[in-house]
Amino acid sequence: MAARPRSNGIVTRFAPSSTGYLHLGHAHSALIAWRAAREAGGRFLLRIEDIDRTRCRPDFTAALLEDLAWLGLNWDGEPRVQSAHFGDYRAVLDSLSGRGLLYPCFCTRGEIAREVAAIGAAPHGPEGMLYPGTCRRLSGAERAARIASGAPYALRLDMAASLETAGGPPSFEELGEGRLRCDPARFGDPVLARKDTPASYHLCVTHDDALQGVTLVTRGEDLKAATDLHRLIQVLMGWPEPAYRHHPLLLGPDGKRLAKRDGAVALRALRAAGRSPAELRRMAGLAG
Ligand code: GLU
Repeated sequence: MAARPRSNGIVTRFAPSSTGYLHLGHAHSALIAWRAAREAGGRFLLRIEDIDRTRCRPDFTAALLEDLAWLGLNWDGEPRVQSAHFGDYRAVLDSLSGRGLLYPCFCTRGEIAREVAAIGAAPHGPEGMLYPGTCRRLSGAERAARIASGAPYALRLDMAASLETAGGPPSFEELGEGRLRCDPARFGDPVLARKDTPASYHLCVTHDDALQGVTLVTRGEDLKAATDLHRLIQVLMGWPEPAYRHHPLLLGPDGKRLAKRDGAVALRALRAAGRSPAELRRMAGLAG
């Protein structure tokens, strides 16, 4: 990856997944990032995270570009569309694989559940049940034979080997909180390439933040735990360390977080109901 020159101001971004229409929660997040960039004379980038070809749709991408422009948000440069760059993510996987930090995992969900039940303990991490490490213990010959047989496989990060290579758990700078220690081991051996999607969110987001020269990652606090893993990937790949701002999520009147499936709060539904961009910006928790 060719390193981007750092700009003087901050570089931040909004990185929605095109799995549905944007709602007020997205507007909240986008406006926080946009405002931070504009107030600092920095850059505000837009990235479409659409690697999951089973859930993302081009019409949602078109709709979100339209909604953000209508809201009065302007972004710098062309949006990066992740689905056009699977080759970049492959190169990262090859680099990690070449250093023995990834292994193929042939297990189905059912097999993992049975293995965990047999162990009698089911430790959980931020992404659910931790993988018991079954395929980590396969010999090189067994791996080669299964791959040759055409068995589908995911690629998992060998957490113990990765932490050793990284020289221990990293840390990150959370604006307003200071330096926080990471605990990536709570992810177990996370999947970095799925059977049905040749790259994971964790891999693509860290690659693209580095490629795009992002100096401040702005996103909802629901993704704060993922930063522990993201920092580890950055250290393993020698990528620069951005600062982080994980903002509280905008909650609905019922006190619950807004969800894409709740069509009532989609920006375009509110727009169709006659709301103006200024009103929506206020509803998104940011006046003006
Ligand atoms: N694409 C992710 C989402 O829509 C956000 C990624 C990020 O900001 O790091 O939840």
